[in-house]
Amino acid sequence: MGFLSGKRALIVGLASERSIAWGIAQAMRREGAELAFTYQNEKLRPRVESYARELGSDLTFAMDVAVDAEIDEAFRGLAQRWPALDIAVHSVAFAPRDQLEGRYIDSVTREGFRTAQDISSYSLAALARAARPLMAGRAGALLTLSYLGAVRAIPSYNVMGPAKASLEANVRFLAYDLGPEGIRVNAISAGPVKTLAAAGIAGFRNMLSHVAARAPLRRNVTIEDIGNAAAFLCSDLAAAITGEVLYVDCGYSTVGMSLE
Ligand code: NAD
Repeated sequence: MGFLSGKRALIVGLASERSIAWGIAQAMRREGAELAFTYQNEKLRPRVESYARELGSDLTFAMDVAVDAEIDEAFRGLAQRWPALDIAVHSVAFAPRDQLEGRYIDSVTREGFRTAQDISSYSLAALARAARPLMAGRAGALLTLSYLGAVRAIPSYNVMGPAKASLEANVRFLAYDLGPEGIRVNAISAGPVKTLAAAGIAGFRNMLSHVAARAPLRRNVTIEDIGNAAAFLCSDLAAAITGEVLYVDCGYSTVGMSLE
């Protein structure tokens, strides 16, 4: 029996088999969780439906996190099939492409900043609010994905840095509010992974080789590494962990200087 057996998990942010959400879904399924998925738009629908089937699920719902009515509708649909929810995974981020190249000082705009905050940070609070009634009386767990750019300046990551900083604060505020109800809220700060979202960041390949050369484990993370940590954090094995940002980055963030 896996350590998530009997748990029901909603996965938000699956777009391809390279998605971090895919690594998380696979690990959670392996550990016995039942899964439901959302897809951002009609273009992604067939793909997400097919990934869901692969993991034994026929529960897929449309949900653009920028649209409150779609969040409400997705949770209405989910509640019709599941009386309760144990886990919600928020693996979503977006900033317009022109925000993710060149210098921050030159590229940042009011609209780009607003969009990055809305889709990449506020949406966690919106998801938590929608999931809360279904998690009542359960040992609920919410998980989001962050990056080192929340706490360090990183070339080209630009406006996503302030968005991830806000996301990590969001984790702490939600954990504080929802803790008395037995709901835990955590983040994984993952090392770089070549996904669709990452492809929008200028010079991303260089980031991968830079990390592989300097991280203590001398490699990049995989979506399996992140999936395993996510399954643990959302399980009862992590019952006393909340408001936390867990680095799953082969140790890169712990290095102060590398002379190689
Ligand atoms: P991905 O492109 O596979 O996933 C991003 C997801 O966000 C997609 O499923 C997309 O549909 C969804 N999304 C974007 N805008 C949305 C909206 N308005 N409504 C609903 N969904 C929306 O890329 P990924 O790298 O797996 O990204 C997942 C998370 O991991 C993001 O928060 C990202 O910042 C974070 N992360 C990624 C890396 C990396 O290097 N890839 C590192 C650390 C953290």
